[in-house]
Amino acid sequence: MMAQYMEIKSAHQDCLLFYRMGDFYELFFTDAEIASKCLGIVLTKRGKHLGDDIPMCGVPIERAEEYLQRLIRSGHRVAVCEQTEDPAEARKRGAKSVVRREVVRIVTPGTLTEDQLLEPGRANLFVALVRQRDNSSNWRFGVAAVEISTGDFDVFETDLDGLPALLARLDPREIVAADAILGDEDLSRMLSDFGAPVAPLGRSPGEGDVARRGLTEYFGVATLDGFGSLTRAEINAAAAALSYIERTQKSSRPRLSFPRHGDIGKSLQIDASTRASLELHRTMAGARARALISVLDRTMTSAGARMLSSWLATPLRDLDKIVARHDAVAFFVTDANLRQDIRERLKGVPDLTRALARIAIDRGGPRDLAALREGLFAAQDCGRILLGAGPPALLSTTAAFLSGVDLDLAEELAVALEPSPPLDRRAGGFIQSGFNPSLDEARSLRDESRRVVAALQGRYCDLAETRQLKIKQNNFLGFFIEAPQAQGERLLRPPLNETFIHRQTMAGAMRFSTNELAELEGRIASSADEAVTIEKKLFDDFAARAQGASAQIEAAAKGLAAVDVLAALAEIAVQADWVRPRVDDGLDFEIVGGRHPVVEAALRSRGEAFVPNDCDLGAPVKKASSAPGGKIAVVTGPNMAGKSTFLRQNALIVILAQMGSFVPAKAAKIGLIDRLFSRVGASDDLARGRSTFMVEMVETAAILNQATQKSLIILDEIGRGTATYDGLSIAWAVMEHLHEVNRSRALFATHFHELTHLGQRLTRLVNLCMRVTDWNGDVVFLHEVARGAADRSYGVQVAKLAGLPRAVIARAKEILAELERTDRNVPVERLVSDLPLFARSETASTNPTETAAVLQALAMLKPDEMTPREALEALYALKAAAND
Ligand code: ATP
Repeated sequence: MMAQYMEIKSAHQDCLLFYRMGDFYELFFTDAEIASKCLGIVLTKRGKHLGDDIPMCGVPIERAEEYLQRLIRSGHRVAVCEQTEDPAEARKRGAKSVVRREVVRIVTPGTLTEDQLLEPGRANLFVALVRQRDNSSNWRFGVAAVEISTGDFDVFETDLDGLPALLARLDPREIVAADAILGDEDLSRMLSDFGAPVAPLGRSPGEGDVARRGLTEYFGVATLDGFGSLTRAEINAAAAALSYIERTQKSSRPRLSFPRHGDIGKSLQIDASTRASLELHRTMAGARARALISVLDRTMTSAGARMLSSWLATPLRDLDKIVARHDAVAFFVTDANLRQDIRERLKGVPDLTRALARIAIDRGGPRDLAALREGLFAAQDCGRILLGAGPPALLSTTAAFLSGVDLDLAEELAVALEPSPPLDRRAGGFIQSGFNPSLDEARSLRDESRRVVAALQGRYCDLAETRQLKIKQNNFLGFFIEAPQAQGERLLRPPLNETFIHRQTMAGAMRFSTNELAELEGRIASSADEAVTIEKKLFDDFAARAQGASAQIEAAAKGLAAVDVLAALAEIAVQADWVRPRVDDGLDFEIVGGRHPVVEAALRSRGEAFVPNDCDLGAPVKKASSAPGGKIAVVTGPNMAGKSTFLRQNALIVILAQMGSFVPAKAAKIGLIDRLFSRVGASDDLARGRSTFMVEMVETAAILNQATQKSLIILDEIGRGTATYDGLSIAWAVMEHLHEVNRSRALFATHFHELTHLGQRLTRLVNLCMRVTDWNGDVVFLHEVARGAADRSYGVQVAKLAGLPRAVIARAKEILAELERTDRNVPVERLVSDLPLFARSETASTNPTETAAVLQALAMLKPDEMTPREALEALYALKAAAND
């Protein structure tokens, strides 16, 4: 057996091997060590290999999915190896022969289908990546994104620069890359940065004609023409994806849609770092809570949640489509009753797509059929209600389709299937009685025989003239009669031994059978088998019919999900007081009373209010002499005043508007944005050998090279990671370039107050500042954006709020005053000699002797013996001592 294990394991080196032995999956050697640690199960040993113990651990079959889930979550891949013959068959080949086993499936993070292993509201796709050179010898990448649990299949072509943005948008659970790509150190590192496990593609699926053939064979078509125009790189990537499916799913063929050509240029371009810094789907720390999606998502179904997530990942650039979505959201906003009615009906609508996908690869169960039944009824129901309400274009097409969904299958399932069927189909029990006469007959035979068995006990007791006989059942003997020792002795003697046949003697009891019991048992077993066989056949028939109707079911699922998303967007718009944005082809950008949805929600939960702010970056009325271009707003103000929040909220408003949502503002007018760039607070990328400053410059370079007049740029503090004058010069030059060359609409937060003077030269530059006031020497943030430049930074005050030691604050104030007095041009060396040394300005409270004195005074107080007045006086005295 170990030899067989070794052979199978050697073909699956990159996976943990679940090796089936009876009712367990066993793991051996390092696999066992990894799994026992990851799953917290006991590591044992079994036999020896080359003189050493073989480590082993086991997972019971009935808990396999739960353990699989944990292994997959930790980034492992698991090869599931089953017994592919009956042990009895193996014994026929000789007493020592080993049962045949085969890997039937490789479970990987990106190829899951089981509900227990999937996150309901999150897409679960893998990406296959290949590359080739174009005519100018530059690399072109083919990217295929496949979601086996829904059948979605999209292909893209991109250059190296666009690759990270595309991968960030797709957010795969697993990346499979051609070996040559993984051999390229930079690329390989870039891929691992996405946090999804990266697997080698292994055997090449072939390119060009071979790849084409792979595709036509899989989809059973003669040519690829029906797929639309796919590029060579896209076809190669699609073939690579199929070969990975074959490797992991073995003989099962998931139901996939034809590969769709994903046109990257049709959506709002958001590069990887912008996407991360705006915290759309998760925060920088990786959490979903406090990311935009957590505030936005009001969907009722998991398919809806997935669609919403994909809309958010891919805001549109097609004006008509954006407006159509706004129309649909507006419709649901206006008709609150309809919205609530639809949402109520959507509640609990099952995941049709994933159920269908499981049925297609023969991993489906009765509950998946029930999902189809309920989903199809809900589809027609929602479709009819919507249609009756006279919805706008986008919804009326969907509603018309949904209301016309063919319900034959659903209706038959309603009659055939139990209302709440079991998950597993193997034991039967999911078809209602009355649906199939043969099934009813087999079941009644089975049940009747059980009743006869139960009645037999009484008869045998009468016959043996005792009340002490019991009919029982176990796996070894089947049905048997058990009698206490003394009664058993009697059954061994005539005439009773003519009926009772001795089978077993136990301590204190004896077991018997009878011919009648054996015959009944046979009848029960065969009728039960018969019932299960009939149910299995019925299941297969329904599954085949579902597959035959898969195109329609799939379309109904998508339609329902879209209705869910649009109604959910209306729900958040109403609840959070969002407004319909006006989007057009111009260069406007006029937000009135804009808010940051996530910060606002967080503040609201603490009972605080968010201060709304306007933002106008639209192109000023064109003078004859100047080329058109958006405004650049230079935002100054202290730390913590809300600059980053203001910058991000405007970027988020664009994303929301272009994904089809209403936006958190009083009014918004936005000229369609083609690309969104956001550089907000870089952090070190030491693993890649890049310092904060280097990361910042790389990202700034990308912006200056790519931004167009239709782009929106958010820059938070350029040039801060280097010496003041270097930083200022870079920030200055960047701003001039943006103004003169890119001409994009931009928001630029900075602490370099010098930049605010650029407004005198750059005509489209406006200065904004965060308003603060001084209160008793402390800074108070108003979070209000006003025209003009901030007068100073208040850095020292903010540091005080943060709890820097008082001595440091006092010293910093001194230095600042001196710096301001002597004008910043005075060489620092002179300042150093002019200013008194730090030690000399230490304040009393940091003096250990005086601190001890205050503590001692405190210790002497006897609160119980003091009058209120004395207590108050003592408090004042202590405060004065501490302030000294
Ligand atoms: P730094 O320069 O240190 O990054 P900042 O000026 O960018 O600071 P933010 O991080 O944007 O400041 O905001 C600081 C905090 O102020 C936020 O976490 C939020 O709680 C609060 N805040 C920001 N804007 C507003 C607003 N418009 N209304 C109410 N509170 C706000």
